[in-house]
Amino acid sequence: MDDQLIEATPSNFIRNIISADLSAGRNRSIVTRFPPEPNGYLHIGHAKSICLNFGLARDYAGCCHLRFDDTNPAKEEVEYEESIKRDVAWLGFDWGEHLYYASDYYEKFYECAEALISAGKAYVDSQSAEEMRQRRGTLTEPGVASPYRDRSSAESLDLFRRMRAGEFADGTHILRARIDMAAPNINLRDPALYRIKKTEHHRTGAAWCIYPMYDFAHPISDALEGVTHSICTLEFEDHRPLYDWVIDNLTLPARPRQYEFARLNLTYTVMSKRKLLELVSDGHVAGWDDPRLPTLSGLRRRGYPPAAVRTFCERIGVGRNDNWIDMSVLEDCVREELNDTAPRVMAVLRPLKVVIENYPEGEVEAMEVANHPANPDFGVRTVPFGREIYIEQEDFAEEPPKGFFRLAPGKEVRLRNAYFITCTAVVRDPASGAIVELRCSYDPASRGGSSPDGRKVKGTIHWVSARDSVTAEVRLYDRLFSVPQPGVGKEVDYLQQLNPHSVEILRDCRCEPGLAAADPSLRYQFERQGYFCLDAASAAGLPVFNRIATLRDSWSKSG
Ligand code: ATP
Ligand code: MG
Repeated sequence: MDDQLIEATPSNFIRNIISADLSAGRNRSIVTRFPPEPNGYLHIGHAKSICLNFGLARDYAGCCHLRFDDTNPAKEEVEYEESIKRDVAWLGFDWGEHLYYASDYYEKFYECAEALISAGKAYVDSQSAEEMRQRRGTLTEPGVASPYRDRSSAESLDLFRRMRAGEFADGTHILRARIDMAAPNINLRDPALYRIKKTEHHRTGAAWCIYPMYDFAHPISDALEGVTHSICTLEFEDHRPLYDWVIDNLTLPARPRQYEFARLNLTYTVMSKRKLLELVSDGHVAGWDDPRLPTLSGLRRRGYPPAAVRTFCERIGVGRNDNWIDMSVLEDCVREELNDTAPRVMAVLRPLKVVIENYPEGEVEAMEVANHPANPDFGVRTVPFGREIYIEQEDFAEEPPKGFFRLAPGKEVRLRNAYFITCTAVVRDPASGAIVELRCSYDPASRGGSSPDGRKVKGTIHWVSARDSVTAEVRLYDRLFSVPQPGVGKEVDYLQQLNPHSVEILRDCRCEPGLAAADPSLRYQFERQGYFCLDAASAAGLPVFNRIATLRDSWSKSG
């Protein structure tokens, strides 16, 4: 056990349980599992579960299984399995040799079902779904026994075998546990264990036409794999007595225990698989990896560092109260990580041309610039400076409001890492009247951006050389929804709450020349603009950048 790691991770009630189990000798080592159903892409909520389960295994020197919970043949696809593996690995976790499929246990599930029938603990019911529903009872009224409840074991066994052999149509028979139709917990009122479903499975093909229910397959899978702590979200709390019933009434190689924690809800997004699927398939976003989605493939494409996602999962903690976490908590984790790890570069998103009239025509200077303001290990680079440059349109105001310290007619500003310039004239398009160019002069004595005579220049702006810069497309992403809790409330349609400005595409940005060969594995800070990474849509000669996050404060205000 690595004490240092345990100390580094904040404690939570599950850690306390595991520590107690280990020190009391109830377990010699721990086994956890992450059991996704391969019917969708993983999202940030799953990341919470992944970090918890794999994190526990790491910190307690145990192991964590990746198990595809593929017991529902209709909805599962190989594409999803591949994406899930990619996403878990991206988050930084390694299941090693412990990759499992619930569908590999079908024969075992079947044996368990027969064992329950033989022991008088399960029976084949032949009511319709509607009849079963009517007899289930309510929270205040007990259920009513099925007329088939007293079927002999022999008769149920015969029917169950014929169910497997494919003799019956979907919905005609079902295997139920014989527990208690009057149990206050409805999950214990003779729950279904197996149903007929004449659907091929993506791994077992047509081998089966009966499939186990989640509440039956899950505890058995856990026990077969020697899972010690089976951790799931709170909505399964009421299922725990059934989980225990299944384990206690079968002869299995291990005795796992289920623990529940609160699922992650994050503001300004949705995490239901149904809604994510709808957003993707109805074209509200550009695919499962759309950078605005909370899917892990979306976050990856957006440029979120996996370390930031892990930090987020630790920071929000693991508890038993459902709550909403503000999106800004996640965004802050991303900024903190990128502030330390992203090299700085200059890019002008909405260019305005500036001609420096007293700068020699044709001359190019290589300005030496630090790649990180606080970390000299990032080294330095040179950025070409010349007579014509671009600055940000919003860094100029013809009639500057109070407190505007950037460029204005007759005003002086510092070009980051270059010179002081003063605006001498404004050039307009004669037809539209729009400002198309500024004329400026520079002070040659201010090279590097330091004041030659102690005179104060408050504003500092970024720039790129007009000649020696590259054109780029920049995609500015914002939150996908404009309300904190999309879809919450009576008669609310979450699709009506999509943020119409969740992406803005700028096609005529100018970057310093080094970004022509931007490193796809790096995230950059575009000074004063935010953090950006190269998008997969980049083509030779036209880089495309995604905005990962904005800067909390731009250095123009502080420096
Ligand atoms: P469904 O079961 O409705 O298809 P699901 O989101 O529960 O959807 P699973 O593939 O079953 O999807 O989830 C795998 C694991 O991830 C489960 O253990 C589940 O509890 C956990 N999980 C899912 N959503 C969240 C969430 N928002 N926060 C924390 N854990 C989650
Ligand atoms: Mg689930």
